Amino acid sequence: MSPKRATNLALAAGGAIQARDSSGRVVLCRGKARPLWFGHPWVYANAVERVDGDVGAGDIVSLVDHDGRFIGRGIFNPRSQIPVRLLTRKEEGIDTTFFAARLRDAQALRARLALPSTRTTAYRLVNSEGDGLPGLVVDVFGDVAVVQVTTLGLALRRDAIFDAVEATLSPRAIYEVAAGSFADLEGFVAQNRVARGEPCNPVACLEDGLHFEAEPLGGQKTGMFLDQRPNRIRVGQLAGAGLRVLDCYAYAGGFGLQAARAGASQVTAVDSSPRAVARIEAHAAANGATVRAVEADAFRFLETATPMSYDLVVVDPPKFARARKDFEAATKGYERLNALALAVCAPGALLVTCSCSQNVGALDFERIVAAAAKQAHREVRIVERGEPGGDHPLPPAFTEGQYLKVLFVYVC
Ligand code: SAH
Repeated sequence: MSPKRATNLALAAGGAIQARDSSGRVVLCRGKARPLWFGHPWVYANAVERVDGDVGAGDIVSLVDHDGRFIGRGIFNPRSQIPVRLLTRKEEGIDTTFFAARLRDAQALRARLALPSTRTTAYRLVNSEGDGLPGLVVDVFGDVAVVQVTTLGLALRRDAIFDAVEATLSPRAIYEVAAGSFADLEGFVAQNRVARGEPCNPVACLEDGLHFEAEPLGGQKTGMFLDQRPNRIRVGQLAGAGLRVLDCYAYAGGFGLQAARAGASQVTAVDSSPRAVARIEAHAAANGATVRAVEADAFRFLETATPMSYDLVVVDPPKFARARKDFEAATKGYERLNALALAVCAPGALLVTCSCSQNVGALDFERIVAAAAKQAHREVRIVERGEPGGDHPLPPAFTEGQYLKVLFVYVC
């Protein structure tokens, strides 16, 4: 079947066409296999020499190097810039048994990191490439699992994935949340729904002993931004009693709640989404904290805030650079935002500044903060660098997966 026809069928049937483990194979150009031998899971379009056999979009294919050596099996989609994503290095079928084994491995890794625990019941169980399952995210909130698929091949195998999640976690419900832009690119219908079990929205969970309620269907991402957990905890450790704290782009309010628990004298949380503001208020109440939640654009808020009036400022904006072409504009945006944030920092304050743009590198971001300091006429020192938690693992060869930058900056 032609790739186009397979994709059209998948679109028409909402993902109900047959998912095939094909006998076809993708042959790499000479010299292009090296990253894959080192654990990189992606094949870029320019690395493919040819496709042998009857292979359609969403099928499983074998990947071989130029000399025919078997590398692994992965998901094929000729309309993607990444036509093959490796799922396994073995000659094996991709079915419920396969997904269940991968999920158990992922669970064992989290157990090694004490996740879940009595203090933390919200964590990422499957981090796509980092757990050998490119295109799949599974986040757990208490007794509910939230699944997100970003490739046609996995969308066609949803039922096997849900079966494996059930077998591994026995959750009260499994939600599927749509990754709209990926679905359009890959050619499948994105779904936002309760896939298994009873709806239970919002979902109660704990992070470091704080109470949260995730909203898988009405919220952003899968319900919470789990990658920032260690940095929220670190903010709690660095907050100290009596500080004036500002949490910009607060979403669920986790940074501010950590600071409130540490004894901050005042916590202001800013988000432009009315839903997020309602959540922050609910979370503050659930944790017996006092947080002033403000619905505002963070730039506007900072522009009109009193200069040097906060001792701890967090800025955790959404991605400014969605694509490489956005780099210049994103750089300007980050620079302006950080200059504004520095202006409201009192002498001796900490600024915790974040970027989740994969297209802005770690060094780029540090240069941006330097430029922001110049713009704001402040002296700054980087004192720590934050990372996503261990429940967001990555293969070392897969640098594309490094997106989150968090700088803890001392402001003189
Ligand atoms: N710090 C959060 C995650 C932030 S995600 C946490 O720890 O959970 C980014 C947030 O920025 C989202 O909640 C989104 O609603 C908000 N946002 C997007 N544009 C904004 C803007 N211009 N001003 C303020 N908030 C904005």
